[in-house]
Amino acid sequence: MVRKITDFVYVIEHEEAANNVIIIGKSGAILVDTSLFPEKARSIAKFVRELTAKPITLVMNTHYHPDHTLGNIAFDCPIVAHSLTRSSMSLFDGEYLRSLGIEITSVKLPDIIFDDKFEYEDGIKIEFYHGPGHTPDSSYVYLPSEGVLIAGDTIVNRMHPEIVSDSNLNLWIKTLQSLPKVKHVIPGHGPAEDHSCIEHMVDYLETIKRLLSGEIGVNDLEKSKNFSERTHPELLNWSIKNLIS
Ligand SMILES: [Zn+2]
Repeated sequence: MVRKITDFVYVIEHEEAANNVIIIGKSGAILVDTSLFPEKARSIAKFVRELTAKPITLVMNTHYHPDHTLGNIAFDCPIVAHSLTRSSMSLFDGEYLRSLGIEITSVKLPDIIFDDKFEYEDGIKIEFYHGPGHTPDSSYVYLPSEGVLIAGDTIVNRMHPEIVSDSNLNLWIKTLQSLPKVKHVIPGHGPAEDHSCIEHMVDYLETIKRLLSGEIGVNDLEKSKNFSERTHPELLNWSIKNLIS
């Protein structure tokens, strides 16, 4: 489903797959995250052509995970991401790609990298910051004039997030607490909402920390709406396994 967030920002929301965000600049369109499937990325490119006569001039990857990056090969404009995003993506080999069941033999790596902050201006000012948290390279996009934050998987809304083996809960919470409290927050997965989803994400991770320290048990999680009302509960079990392995 496509949702207009502001006059210049659209999100292609998916039930569970990663969101794709289109920013309409003065001379071109900017796409944030490119999906797992190259064919889907091509349909996103087609949608952008229908939305605006402007070409896609820049692609941004919020982190290295394949559901945000493998569609890069459908775009021939520059791709910008954190330096760790590029180095992690360079480890994707044929065996890994086959394990995902995707017909793809090569990965298009970001060609512009940054460490702390990347700025871009095309009628709209775009600020791209390193988080980290969900992964060491996790980054987010801030559009001050639009009151829009594009959070990548630093925020997952209304469904359980994926806490992976390289997630750092303390850094993740610190990043969340430093995010601008804007009107429109577009998460990596789940629907766009106001900034209350930032606080829900902090609460979620703080609760997971209490679970890991033994302060509360798994059954206590069900008492919290922030857990019981999220979809995909199987991801919670998966995350806990990742954290204790
Ligand atoms: Zn994701």
